[in-house]
Amino acid sequence: MSWSTTADAPAATGPLADAHAQLDGAIGHLGYDGGIRQMLATPRRELMVSVPLRRDDGSIAVYSGYRVQHNFSRGPAKGGLRYAPSVDLDEVRALAMWMTWKCALVDVPYGGAKGGVAIDVREHSTPELERVTRRYISEILPIIGPEVDIPAPDIGTDERTMAWIMDTYSAAVGHTVPGVVTGKPVSLGGSLGRASATSRGVANIALMAMSSRGMSPERTTAAVQGFGKVGRDAARFLSAAGVTVRAVSDIDGAVYDHRGLDIARLSAHVDLTGSVVGFEGTEAIDAASILTLDVDVVVPAAIEGVLTAQNAGKVQARIVVEGANGPTTKEADAILRDRDVLVVPDILANAGGVVVSYFEWVQANQAYQWSERDVNDRLEERMTRAWHDVVDYAGAHDLSYREAATVLAVQRVTEAHKLRGLYP
Ligand code: GLU
Repeated sequence: MSWSTTADAPAATGPLADAHAQLDGAIGHLGYDGGIRQMLATPRRELMVSVPLRRDDGSIAVYSGYRVQHNFSRGPAKGGLRYAPSVDLDEVRALAMWMTWKCALVDVPYGGAKGGVAIDVREHSTPELERVTRRYISEILPIIGPEVDIPAPDIGTDERTMAWIMDTYSAAVGHTVPGVVTGKPVSLGGSLGRASATSRGVANIALMAMSSRGMSPERTTAAVQGFGKVGRDAARFLSAAGVTVRAVSDIDGAVYDHRGLDIARLSAHVDLTGSVVGFEGTEAIDAASILTLDVDVVVPAAIEGVLTAQNAGKVQARIVVEGANGPTTKEADAILRDRDVLVVPDILANAGGVVVSYFEWVQANQAYQWSERDVNDRLEERMTRAWHDVVDYAGAHDLSYREAATVLAVQRVTEAHKLRGLYP
């Protein structure tokens, strides 16, 4: 059975098609009707803006910006802000829907949102990125706020971007509002532990997945795609837990060491050169091969749509832990399932970021800073609970972990929606 969001909307492709297919699967399993499906497939609000920029050389460029608020049933909308040339409305819609499921799955009181600007950060100076951010935020200002929609970092944005957002919003309303954004610098009310929270959660979940398959960290090998906000610390935590991280990649290339990479030294190399490429003592390999290497665990921690019908059949790992959002296409998911590769879905595996975003928002509301230990303990508790919820549900209903995670999330969001009722 298939539905369309509006009568004449063309069928989605790419990540949005995958997100819709996941939703349809959950709706079918739960036996919900087409009205509920339509509610959950349709974002509550979408705003498209143009973002004009005066470049450093005096010329003007104009970029497309988006903010999609997928759902508010369980609380304010929450989700990151992505700067990448490939950003478009459908991608932001998919990412916003996944945020709704992610927040529901780890039981933080938020709906889902995502924003984006179609811009290549590598072609802009810091002052240009600041102007783009301030203008984009001014454009979407009417629909964000600490009780409405709370942005956070995603690809291409970081804690500096969040500081500009907090400042722009605060200047507009006339007082400092730390709760309007998460992933801020700690000195501006950011949470201890937020910067590495996504990676810490990815590593926690990877270790639980390994243990569920009888694999000890010391005898497990891994490859990590992406060495940015998620991949870098995920590799570090896995390595610290005893896992042999044989390969990592970034946008420029990939490096391999059969004995395991020294992640601390690799990080220092990246800080110095801007890329993993050329790290001494390693073999340069084709970045496209990182997901199909002879390792036990692969962690795609870069962008969506990287495990496809073309390469899923060649994956040699027994476990895929999705550090990125949407790295596995629908076709690849089916192939991996047939081949008994355990795929730990994004909305579970990478939820640590939004969990600590929630802690940051709570700390902003309390005007009280928690210790890093407190943050990390509470993060681990939530990730472990969500892991067991998914494993138990999948086992009881013979579903994949992605199906089980989506069903649990859709059920929680629908329950909130039904309790609140449809207004008017
Ligand atoms: N961008 C991150 C994600 O995809 C974090 C979102 C947040 O903390 O609001 O989960």
